[in-house]
Amino acid sequence: MKIICIGKNYLKHVKEFDGKVPEELCFFLKPDTALLKDNEPFYHPDFSKEVHHEVEIVVKIDKVGKNIQKQFAHKYYSEIGIGIDFTARDLQWKLKEQGLPWEKSKAFDGSAPVGKKFISVSSIVDINNINFHLDINGKTVQKGNTSDMMFKIDDIIAEVSKYITLKTGDLIYTGTPEGVSPVKIGDNLKAYFEEDCLLNFDIK
Ligand code: MG
Repeated sequence: MKIICIGKNYLKHVKEFDGKVPEELCFFLKPDTALLKDNEPFYHPDFSKEVHHEVEIVVKIDKVGKNIQKQFAHKYYSEIGIGIDFTARDLQWKLKEQGLPWEKSKAFDGSAPVGKKFISVSSIVDINNINFHLDINGKTVQKGNTSDMMFKIDDIIAEVSKYITLKTGDLIYTGTPEGVSPVKIGDNLKAYFEEDCLLNFDIK
């Protein structure tokens, strides 16, 4: 499986990041070794002093597809969940300045925690109106709603599948709202899909 992450999909996060609004969908990949499942702890890597949380709605692909048209995109997923796109921000800035790929800052082991449980699309009233948030040590630090995505879930599937074949089990992290900040050893992170806590783990 592969992990596809959308960058710069919420305007307020773009503003806190570099202020440059993309004209086209921007995406990057993480390998399967980035996945952190079953609420396992995240071990803070030594190579970064600034690992930021980015809470994101995650779409699980359940059918192979290429060049998927937007009106058929909904046939390629049936469950939606939540995850964190951990980012070594200090490395990312360094790489970005040098015009180098982002992988060291984005694709490292454990950089993609994902919720234990996914929610069936059939039980979601409107996938373009999902509230989600991240609490650290009991305090809400990021809060979003999928209506604020610049590229909605079906747009993302259409656009990504122009370039990359989607396969069963692939996960798409759909971008983060504003409020990113560094995590530290000892923190507890809880990510909520509406009022449902789907992800709960510690930083070690
Ligand atoms: Mg992200």
